[in-house]
Amino acid sequence: NGFIELGLAPELVQAVADLGYTQPTSVQLKAIPLAMGAGDDAKRFIDLMVSSQTGSGKTAAFLLPVLHTLIQQQAEAEAEERAAFERAVAEAAVRGEPAPKRAKRKDPTNARNFKAATPGALILCPTRELAQQVAHDAIDLVKHCRGLRVANVVGGMPYQLQIAKLQNANLVVATPGRLLDLQRSMQIKLDKVQFLVVDEADRMLDLGFSDDLAELNQLTSQRKQTMMFSATFAPRIQQLAMRVMHDGGASVQ
Ligand code: AMP
Repeated sequence: NGFIELGLAPELVQAVADLGYTQPTSVQLKAIPLAMGAGDDAKRFIDLMVSSQTGSGKTAAFLLPVLHTLIQQQAEAEAEERAAFERAVAEAAVRGEPAPKRAKRKDPTNARNFKAATPGALILCPTRELAQQVAHDAIDLVKHCRGLRVANVVGGMPYQLQIAKLQNANLVVATPGRLLDLQRSMQIKLDKVQFLVVDEADRMLDLGFSDDLAELNQLTSQRKQTMMFSATFAPRIQQLAMRVMHDGGASVQ
């Protein structure tokens, strides 16, 4: 399977194999290695401006590298948690105290435990249909990942249902309007977003989302990486790229 050579996490290689993908498409071959980040400890990520048509496999080209890093970070966090617990057990033994118990996870469906969602990755799509398609693809790709959750935030869906699904989401796929509604009502906080993807940026501008994009650009200003996907590199797309990405993003055609 050609995805193994890309160095993706085994959970993701298994998921693409389940979907019947054997070889990365051209845009995946070009974008995934660039998007995955370089360096071992303090990974550095570059911003990308990718020219892509629907049907090219562009969705997996941004979902796979983002999910790969989220999986790695989760594994590192779990290893740290385990090591801290083992240290606490060893220290208790030295002092002759009973071993500490592992902290219980709070039930997120209990309203008393409500916390605003703090996703690590955010995918912006121009339409509800596209956002639902992308979320659907993301759910297919995380099926072997323990504890990685995907949520879809689009207009026209009941708020309560969306908010319940949003809690604990690591990756949020959203249309800009509804996302900003939830941000303003403090159901979601965007200050932990590390990865921002703008899908179909040309349609995003056609549909009048320029101001919303500017606001979301500000709200996620601490992010590590931005990727923009667009069918065209028209001047207005390049202007948007200059506003939201370092040096306008490395260009992938
Ligand atoms: P997209 O351009 O992201 O809308 O993808 C178009 C279609 O190609 C979708 O149905 C994907 O499931 C499929 N696809 C994406 N990557 C691959 C691949 N490497 N091999 C085969 N099919 C793929």
